[in-house]
Amino acid sequence: MENDRQQEVYQNHLADKEREWENQCLRCGACCGAYEDPCRDLKKGPDGKYSCGVYFRRYGAHETVGGKKFRCMPIRDIIHMSWDHDQFCAYKQAIKP
Ligand code: SF4
Ligand code: SF4
Repeated sequence: MENDRQQEVYQNHLADKEREWENQCLRCGACCGAYEDPCRDLKKGPDGKYSCGVYFRRYGAHETVGGKKFRCMPIRDIIHMSWDHDQFCAYKQAIKP
């Protein structure tokens, strides 16, 4: 019983951390090509912010509006790379020395 409780506390903690991490994103769309050749699944909302149309199955093969094929990867896997307007990325800002 104690183990179940600890497991639940741990899972809640992980979920909180995940939410905290996700909420850091400014939804600028830059990492999805918003300022150059956007991913076909990138959507712009009425608030001017971007979101992914296939968020829960986003990783893997995709195509840009211009027809370029690429793989969508977690931000932690591309954080060391460069993309147009990446200077505004909240995650890049957070790891800046
Ligand atoms: S599939 Fe990936 S690159 Fe395309 S909009 Fe979604 S998160 Fe961005
Ligand atoms: S560039 Fe960074 S802040 Fe902008 S949408 Fe991508 S992950 Fe979010």
